[in-house]
Amino acid sequence: MFTKILIANRGEIACRVIKTARRMGIATVAVYSDADRDALHVEMADEAVHIGPSAAAESYLVAEKIIEACRQTGAQAVHPGYGFLSERASFCEALEEQGIVFIGPKPKAINAMGDKIESKKFASAANVSTVPGYLGVIENAEHAEKIAAEIGYPVMIKASAGGGGKGMRIAWSEAEVRDGFDRARSEAKSSFGDDRVFIEKYVVDPRHIEIQVLADAHGNVVYLGERECSIQRRNQKVAEEAPSPFLDEATRAAMGEQSVALARAVDYQSAGTVEFIVDRDRNFYFLEMNTRLQVEHPVTELITGIDLVEQMIRVAAGEKLSFAQKDIELNGWAVESRIYAEDPYRNFLPSIGRLTRYRPPSEGRAAGNAIVRNDTGVFEGAEISMYYDPMIAKLCTWAPTRAEAVEAMGEALDGFVVDGIEHNVPFLSALMKHPRWREGRLSTGFIAEEYPDGFAPVMPDESQRAALAAIALSASLIEANRRETVPDRLRSASDPLRDDWCVRLGDDYIDVRLLDGLVTMPFEMEMDIAGETLSVVTDWRPGDPVWRGEVGKQSVTAQLRPILNGVRLDWQGLSVKSRVLTPRHAELDRLMPVKLPPDTSKLLLCPMPGLVVSIAVTEGQEVKAGETLAVVEAMKMENVLRAERDLVVGVINAKPGESLAVDAVIMEFA
Ligand code: ADP
Ligand code: ADP
Ligand code: MG
Repeated sequence: MFTKILIANRGEIACRVIKTARRMGIATVAVYSDADRDALHVEMADEAVHIGPSAAAESYLVAEKIIEACRQTGAQAVHPGYGFLSERASFCEALEEQGIVFIGPKPKAINAMGDKIESKKFASAANVSTVPGYLGVIENAEHAEKIAAEIGYPVMIKASAGGGGKGMRIAWSEAEVRDGFDRARSEAKSSFGDDRVFIEKYVVDPRHIEIQVLADAHGNVVYLGERECSIQRRNQKVAEEAPSPFLDEATRAAMGEQSVALARAVDYQSAGTVEFIVDRDRNFYFLEMNTRLQVEHPVTELITGIDLVEQMIRVAAGEKLSFAQKDIELNGWAVESRIYAEDPYRNFLPSIGRLTRYRPPSEGRAAGNAIVRNDTGVFEGAEISMYYDPMIAKLCTWAPTRAEAVEAMGEALDGFVVDGIEHNVPFLSALMKHPRWREGRLSTGFIAEEYPDGFAPVMPDESQRAALAAIALSASLIEANRRETVPDRLRSASDPLRDDWCVRLGDDYIDVRLLDGLVTMPFEMEMDIAGETLSVVTDWRPGDPVWRGEVGKQSVTAQLRPILNGVRLDWQGLSVKSRVLTPRHAELDRLMPVKLPPDTSKLLLCPMPGLVVSIAVTEGQEVKAGETLAVVEAMKMENVLRAERDLVVGVINAKPGESLAVDAVIMEFA
């Protein structure tokens, strides 16, 4: 076994690999760029080597720097994590030349599977069922149109070197092929340095289900069940689970066996994932094989009890797998939520900055029989920079059944405190309550279908309103009680506690009557809320952003934050402003005029900090709804800003090449 390994990655995955290495008694070396000087993976590793400037192309992607770091520290092997150099065969070869072991598959397998066009050819030769399409490079837009017509619409244009859901476009018509082809190619070139694209049939409404395989250097190959990753936004995974609620034993075995056959065909060793799309009739088609550890590997670990990183290290050290296919059992259910620094209320645009508060839920045993696991690379005070993936954490829950695992995930998300940047926790929390998700009726179109206009704060129903009112009022009473018991109190202790209150939630007013008049700690009180009697119990303390307790026997985890004239409550994807008033105060409050937000409908605002790639219109031009106005690049993605209605362009304020702040006015409309 190795005594020292280097982790050629950053963020949560670097931390995750370090944890296992440490448990195995292996010393660890981290590498870091300028932006990551104070990063968690640097702190966790036994040693750390600085490898250059913040831009990944000048640090994490430079093989020579990683090899030099191995030489300096005497690391015997390299774990590449995912992304960066993880699927670069030339990197493995360069390591091998230096006598350093790559903790992953051999260059042959990476070459065969690392490229989408090549891997599809390979898979069909190995009798794996693949998506119908053209197995070659498309030269130009005319060629693309011809091929698309042969396959039949809709089609998908994909970058052969693509990954992470990028460089992929659906086209429903000839015009869309023409338009999408050039954009797919330019995005492929800029994101992957390789502009080869191909075309395959777009399977409508599929599920994404993938098989985890594990192979050693002695010819043993097993599959560790599947993961369902159908909850996607723009072909990028958002939430995953294992097992899939859709597969029966026969389909699981068929997919598993084809995946094992494919792995054998390329002499695969280490952990790898064979991705499929599955249609409504459970026909499955090979998409690609990822020859690395997958982002969502923890859900497989939770249901199999197998540490995939440990297995990768053992296989790389030449050990035989210590179990066979018959030893692998799938136990219970696991769900993963990817927590990203992105604003769910603004079309999930990246949000960067400092985590002024970061308090994940505690890991380990949770309510019921659930288990919480949180893989992260950040800490309170850390910065989410523009240089890398905006992932904050991967929150996983495990429980004996899917319903319990989902319930535990909702609870864990509701207690996950992140301040300082925008993040998608409210969206994920709302997802956990979504009836269609709960029923497991999924497809890769789920988010687009269920949130066609984007995500907006959910409206509370009757019982949620009662719970929110109870939370707001209990917090207000606990705070008042605290004020009374400190010296120099603001009110006299002899004031009787009034029993009638009105809680304003958004624009609603909810009458609450307290059925006893004493505030005790922990807080326990019967309340009459809009005519219903509920007991409210909590040990919440002033200043804590998380309110945990019970409202009418229902256990509740919610968050509250002071805002001007009140408190903002976040729970189950709801985000509501609340204010506790006396009945008289409420009466007056209802008479206050409503302040209207400023009219921005005549402006095109830059939705995120970014670089103007192009302006597609000129002053005075008439534009139809849906037409492109400008393209802004942020986080290595080209974002097309389109007209939301028919309009006439007025003054244009921005030029291509210009860097803009969020909300900068790109153009005005007449
Ligand atoms: P990446 O390398 O970016 O992960 P994949 O080929 O794995 O690319 O595809 C990512 C996602 O895009 C899939 O999970 C699926 O939702 C969607 N997708 C890809 N190819 C097709 C297709 N032919 N038909 C329908 N959806 C597809
Ligand atoms: P997976 O295929 O593992 O389920 P995704 O397809 O969503 O996960 O994203 C993984 C891909 O996204 C990687 O192959 C890489 O291209 C990119 N990526 C994600 N996280 C990182 C990271 N921390 N550093 C570099 N690239 C990353
Ligand atoms: Mg994929």
